[in-house]
Amino acid sequence: METITYTVKDGLYLNITNRCPCSCTFCIRNNGSSVYGSDPLWLDHEPSLEEIYAAIDERNLEDFHEVVFCGYGEPTERLDILLEVAAYIHKKSNIPIRINTNGLSDLIHEERTAPKLNGLIDAVSVSLNATNAEDYQKLVRPKFGAKSFDAMLAFTKDCRNYVPKVRMTIVDTVTSKEEQEASRKICENLGVELKIRAYECA
Ligand code: SF4
Repeated sequence: METITYTVKDGLYLNITNRCPCSCTFCIRNNGSSVYGSDPLWLDHEPSLEEIYAAIDERNLEDFHEVVFCGYGEPTERLDILLEVAAYIHKKSNIPIRINTNGLSDLIHEERTAPKLNGLIDAVSVSLNATNAEDYQKLVRPKFGAKSFDAMLAFTKDCRNYVPKVRMTIVDTVTSKEEQEASRKICENLGVELKIRAYECA
């Protein structure tokens, strides 16, 4: 049985793909198969739209304060499906919808993708993870190489034009105080909030 939806605190989380162009040294997928005691999030197959709709229909959206595309992979790998699911949820409810992302959507799809989020996505949370391209490459290990760090920042900045809430996150256990301060400055320059998050909490 695939785990397409799972809960974290009062959020309903969606697991629509296991694909990711990165190989973060700290990725929770290296250490297990679940998050916050969820059922295993490794998928036998990527769920179809119908399977995702059915999984959402099993939940009462009124029980949650937001829906979050997250899971065991990079949700924007399936951006078209993600946007169709967001439209489906909006038809059922006015619950806010967030994407947790590595911010590499533009490189994955070889085009500007932030405009596609307009009117469908309420919040984007981008993993910043490092404060320069060299450290980012060592920690996140994206398959796109050295251009990834700047592309991730550019995507984040672009999101501000189309998404009401944009923030970046760093993981507390893999960043020093100096890196956290430098991250704050990067976020200030981009005009977005910084969240220093616990290892497992997206
Ligand atoms: S971007 Fe997320 S899913 Fe991908 S390797 Fe890094 S932590 Fe794991």
